[in-house]
Amino acid sequence: MEMQAPKGTKDMLPQDAYKWNFVEKTFRDVAKYYGMREIRTPMFEHTELFARGVGDTTDIVQKEMYTFNDKGNRSITLKPEGTAGAGRAFIESRLFNEAQPTKLYYITPCFRYENVQKGRFRQFHQFGTEVYGSKEPSMDAEVIALAMQVLKTLGLQSLSLNINNLGCPSCRPKYNEALKNYLKENYDNLCPLCQSRFEKNPMRILDCKEKKCKEITKNAPIILDYMCEECDTHFDAVKKYLTALNIPYTVDPGIVRGLDYYTKTIFEILNDEFTVCGGGRYDKLIEELGGPEMPAVGFGMGIERLIMILEKEGIEIPNENLFDLYIGARGDEAKFAAFTLANKLREVGIKTEVNHMGRSVKAEMKYANKIGAAFTTILGDDELQNKVIKLKRMSDGEQFEVSLDNIQEIANAIK
Ligand code: ATP
Ligand code: MG
Repeated sequence: MEMQAPKGTKDMLPQDAYKWNFVEKTFRDVAKYYGMREIRTPMFEHTELFARGVGDTTDIVQKEMYTFNDKGNRSITLKPEGTAGAGRAFIESRLFNEAQPTKLYYITPCFRYENVQKGRFRQFHQFGTEVYGSKEPSMDAEVIALAMQVLKTLGLQSLSLNINNLGCPSCRPKYNEALKNYLKENYDNLCPLCQSRFEKNPMRILDCKEKKCKEITKNAPIILDYMCEECDTHFDAVKKYLTALNIPYTVDPGIVRGLDYYTKTIFEILNDEFTVCGGGRYDKLIEELGGPEMPAVGFGMGIERLIMILEKEGIEIPNENLFDLYIGARGDEAKFAAFTLANKLREVGIKTEVNHMGRSVKAEMKYANKIGAAFTTILGDDELQNKVIKLKRMSDGEQFEVSLDNIQEIANAIK
């Protein structure tokens, strides 16, 4: 029987690879402008890390993790997101002892046991950033600016940015009390998951996707009315910085986001169909994971959703020619010459293909056309004898004579 990929996974096929390469290159380039350096952490971690780092009242920890016992009977989880692993590595490697801030980015697969639907997979990929060490609102704005610059560079200018402030340990308890007071009357009508959130983390109820919970929370008190002075000042400053950078935003008091340890700023970038990027500040996370007091801010951007949006918007991703030159050959001696010539040209950066399929010269030229070779040439007795070959430019049929033994001359004619 023919095998199929597991539900919720996707192959990245060769004909799509250029899109992935292009967006990943854009991430890396933009991250560089902001002084971010790459971090790669393991694909799996001790389950405990995510329970603590993501938070045990979140969707991720409550229902989405790929968790199993390994042969040593340790509970292992495939990473559902990038923040917890980066935080663990930051602490374990004592990066907090270096001059701060520490600015990191990653590109990683993530695994979540989800209801598979459009833009929602079980293995997906994220580009993310993590900045440690700065509690200043300018850093929140800088991280948002980075995300916006990535999207702008890719040609996406029409996405909305929603921001909110989740308060801090000094003001959130007061808000939680007000929220619980409001929800109390409808406790019995909340979904079982939200009932379990009621005591531990009532704010998460605002993020529930169940219709009846949404109905109940519609008129709930909002955190912005309960913020302490520090959070208030911080939020005002973030907004001021965004305005200074000409980054339009909407304050949406309804957004809560997936991690339990978010404090102060959170944000989402979305179109009418998907949230493509989510992030914020998590000043307590590093302590929660056993590290020193260390403020942090970052985001995660879903690469599949990003590419889907680019396609929907009709944004063309540049796809270079797979081959610059196809060398055809008449006869065994010419085939030998074509083979060695191809290799010399590859060494000087020309993407070259030769016949490995025993095709006739006519079939070779048809194939060269099909693979979109920018130039073709045919080697035969005359070419070998006179040491001159004709390069044919496929776009307009124009021919260029070059010397067979002068590799650089051939390369220059093609470049
Ligand atoms: P949602 O509300 O859509 O479930 P989330 O809050 O779980 O999103 P985050 O944990 O903030 O998402 O992840 C950041 C980004 O990763 C999302 O904005 C999205 O682009 C992407 N993402 C999250 N889950 C998936 C998934 N299952 N498949 C594809 N992309 C995803
Ligand atoms: Mg989710």
